[in-house]
Amino acid sequence: MIQPRPEPAADARRILVIEDSRTFSMALRQLLEAETGLHVTTCDSLRELSALIVAAPGAYAIAVVDLNLPDAPRGEALDWTVTHGIPSVVFTATFDLATRGRIMEREVIDYVLKDNEFALPNLVATVKRALDNRHTRILVVDDTRTTRKVLARMLLIQQYSVVEASSGQEALHLLEANPDIQLVVSDYYMPDMDGFDLARRIRRLNRGIRVIGISSSTDRQTSAGFLKAGAHDFVARPFVLEELQCRIASNVETLTQLKQLKDLAARDYLTGLYNRRHFFERGHYLVNEARGLGVPVSVAILDIDNFKDLNDRYGHDVGDKALAAVAHNLNQSASRGFNLIARVGGEEFAILLPGSDLAQAAGLCEVIRETIAREPLKLDDQTLSLTVSLGVTEIAREDDFATCLGLADGALYAAKQGGRNRVCMTAAG
Ligand code: GH3
Ligand code: MG
Ligand code: MG
Repeated sequence: MIQPRPEPAADARRILVIEDSRTFSMALRQLLEAETGLHVTTCDSLRELSALIVAAPGAYAIAVVDLNLPDAPRGEALDWTVTHGIPSVVFTATFDLATRGRIMEREVIDYVLKDNEFALPNLVATVKRALDNRHTRILVVDDTRTTRKVLARMLLIQQYSVVEASSGQEALHLLEANPDIQLVVSDYYMPDMDGFDLARRIRRLNRGIRVIGISSSTDRQTSAGFLKAGAHDFVARPFVLEELQCRIASNVETLTQLKQLKDLAARDYLTGLYNRRHFFERGHYLVNEARGLGVPVSVAILDIDNFKDLNDRYGHDVGDKALAAVAHNLNQSASRGFNLIARVGGEEFAILLPGSDLAQAAGLCEVIRETIAREPLKLDDQTLSLTVSLGVTEIAREDDFATCLGLADGALYAAKQGGRNRVCMTAAG
């Protein structure tokens, strides 16, 4: 079951900062706008806040709320934002257990203390995280309805997208149906399948899903058992809300970093296109997929003509800029559908075209060749012209990916032999 989140309107694109210190509010506005790309509206009193909310109740994606305002000394501003469904982060100078209790019972995303030099960056990071959390889907697995609901509610307040399962079996079904679930928070004791077993099975899915185990067992072996079964973290029940929040946030951060690393490893630094390794890995997959669907697939290889001369004449830096310009051009003309574009060698690029037969692929290659030949490259203070040659083939059912690349390469060789600045094709099979 997918839970609706207490969420502002889908088009809510503003951040609301309620803060009576002008210094804080101006600094916050600047930092938040720079870091999130969203507009910030500021106000310094409850009177102004209520007028803003009445005027545009659905405009705000998130609010940063100061607990003490001259006309609202007891957190009344927070009541306003929370009751109007605006996810709120508290920014406060006063902090004690009673204040914490008052803040937490009002279901805020988090609170940040003003008392140290990291206050502003902490606050900005908290707001960014909350906005990002909307794209993270978490599965909560617990056979006890009440504890499951408490946890789901907490995650929804943190802006995560939440899915609930009441058993290990249901969790596995939901994971199959929702390939975007990235994190699972699972109870230990459940009648059909315990948390260890579930963690093991999730590991076997090999999808990089993070697992956090939870248990009220006093047996210290439970946490070790979870970790040995493949879970990434463990939290003992009853948990302190902030501890669980931090552990979830740190696992989500690890996921984000892994994704960034994976993307970096798949890209070519100079052009930003995919690299050779990614082209081969993803290419095999796309070719098999197209075959399964019974649609044609073609592959083209492009090589810049006389590139060595260009380097020799204008220098390596200009050569690099020319490579980036060709990559940009390819992105503009060829990135559609499932087309996969990569830099596969020094001045050599490849395009895999699932869904295109030989004639369609050759047509696109001709457009690419013609555009590059027609438009001189404007690089800083100089303009230079460039041509490219392309070889293209359709991948026959019986041929493997590498063989087809060889065929496209053969066609490219023919294009070079034929005088360059042209497209040659090899028929499949
Ligand atoms: P052809 O028309 O037959 O393809 O001739 P060409 O000069 O383009 O081909 P050749 O293979 O002789 O030379 C390719 C050149 O590409 C040589 C190499 O220095 C240059 N090159 C490879 N990688 C890079 C790069 O990252 N940056 C720059 N600036 N040059 C590169
Ligand atoms: Mg070349
Ligand atoms: Mg070459």
